[in-house]
Amino acid sequence: MDCLFCKIINGEIPSNKVYEDELVYAFRDIEPQAPTHILIIPKQHIKSAAEIDESNSAVVAHIFEVAAKIAKQEGLDDGFRIVNNCGDIAGQTVKHLHFHLMGGREFGWPAG
Ligand code: 5GP
Ligand code: ZN
Repeated sequence: MDCLFCKIINGEIPSNKVYEDELVYAFRDIEPQAPTHILIIPKQHIKSAAEIDESNSAVVAHIFEVAAKIAKQEGLDDGFRIVNNCGDIAGQTVKHLHFHLMGGREFGWPAG
């Protein structure tokens, strides 16, 4: 399958790994939008948040456990933002489910 993040998981494309276990892979975003900007992805290819259902949702709970662990490791004690862009209208550019974990600066709402 021609998927950028599947290639990152299997090492075909290099990445700056932050965390890995049997279910998920986390690595630094190539174009960071905050001092800490990490992408957390399931090893299973899920296209987007719209494809989450009862058969694959356990990995999403696990991703949030991992996010909290990484946030502690990164010293994001003042808080952080977790973002998922789903579909073209939301700006999803890579069609493999991923959660952005960002911290180290203040964030606006709803954007920025
Ligand atoms: P999206 O826009 O789909 O929510 O997020 C995709 C993210 O993947 C973007 O923040 C982009 O900077 C990041 N990205 C795209 N290609 C690569 C890559 O080859 N390596 C890494 N580490 N990040 C990438
Ligand atoms: Zn993939």
